[in-house]
Amino acid sequence: MTLKRLTPEEALGLDRFNVDEGNPHILLDKARCASCPDRPCLWACPARLYRLKDGEVQFDCAGCLECGTCRVVCTHGGLVSWSHPGATFGVTFRCS
Ligand code: SF4
Repeated sequence: MTLKRLTPEEALGLDRFNVDEGNPHILLDKARCASCPDRPCLWACPARLYRLKDGEVQFDCAGCLECGTCRVVCTHGGLVSWSHPGATFGVTFRCS
């Protein structure tokens, strides 16, 4: 049997997500994000869920890998709530 080494994009593409619509596990304070000088979330999130649009930080929980990186790098108080999704929700990591 030959194992194929997947690229990070291929490996992440295998993961499955069950999003708890209407009950996001990460909440932002957009006013604080607007005044953040560095916005480390834009480059630190491995799933690229933070984006800048018309000067405002945009975010969507769908696709979150639950790594906690944004929780660590947010030093300006924009991330006001971070928790793991409830039972049966969130990411399921897959390798094949
Ligand atoms: S927990 Fe990780 S994947 Fe999810 S939004 Fe934060 S940095 Fe991105």
